[in-house]
Amino acid sequence: MSVQILSAGRSSLLEAREVSASYGHVQALKPTSLHIAEGELVTILGPNGAGKSTLLRALTRLTACRGRLFFRGTEISGLPTHQLARRGIVMVQEGRGLFAQMSVRENLMVGAFLHAAETDRQMAAVFELFPRLRERIDQTAGSLSGGEQQMLAIGRALMAKPQLLMLDEPSLGLAPRAASEILSTLGELNRRGLGILLVEQKAPLALKLAQRVYVLSLGKIVAELKPDEIESHHDLARYYLH
Ligand code: ATP
Repeated sequence: MSVQILSAGRSSLLEAREVSASYGHVQALKPTSLHIAEGELVTILGPNGAGKSTLLRALTRLTACRGRLFFRGTEISGLPTHQLARRGIVMVQEGRGLFAQMSVRENLMVGAFLHAAETDRQMAAVFELFPRLRERIDQTAGSLSGGEQQMLAIGRALMAKPQLLMLDEPSLGLAPRAASEILSTLGELNRRGLGILLVEQKAPLALKLAQRVYVLSLGKIVAELKPDEIESHHDLARYYLH
């Protein structure tokens, strides 16, 4: 099944053309094309091992990949991860990647390395979004709850002033309430204009936020649709909604 949808009226933020990635002889991501429009929140669904993390890692060059990438119409193929971050493409990896022995403040400061002069302003913006982090500013990251750690991981990514934020399963391992808090904050960031590419297991929550969905299976995109169209695809609805 393949349903093509164009993000009407919006200009392209990221476009991937035939991006693929392999681990040794195993092609975990087959040539895949996708796009995210300015201000769009797109979610990627797919079963375990479908290649969702590999896709995000390829798009941020954390994994070597083939194919072409364009950001706001400019080709960025071959740029390393830190150069992508300079352009505003930032990822929150699965497992969060925080510095456990460092404080909340220090972790946030690491995220601000590209915009050191704006650290205070950015930190205030992160605290406005996640007041809990302000209360725990001197606490080590490793001593935070799972939900707070995810807030910190997202906060650290926001310190880099992203134009496109990619997140790999931000609700993984969180209690339902913490997961929905995190996802509703992503919705708020998107309403403020941030482009978001979200890999998420909690499909019903992600589908409430997303404007468009890609379904990945066995390393390739098998469907592109709007969230409310999933219901009419019985195989997808059974797997992701019920
Ligand atoms: P999950 O939902 O379980 O996190 P996923 O959809 O994110 O899965 P990936 O983690 O991208 O899937 O994995 C895609 C395939 O690539 C899987 O078969 C996985 O075993 C394989 N794979 C992932 N990372 C590596 C690696 N570092 N070395 C070898 N194979 C890998």
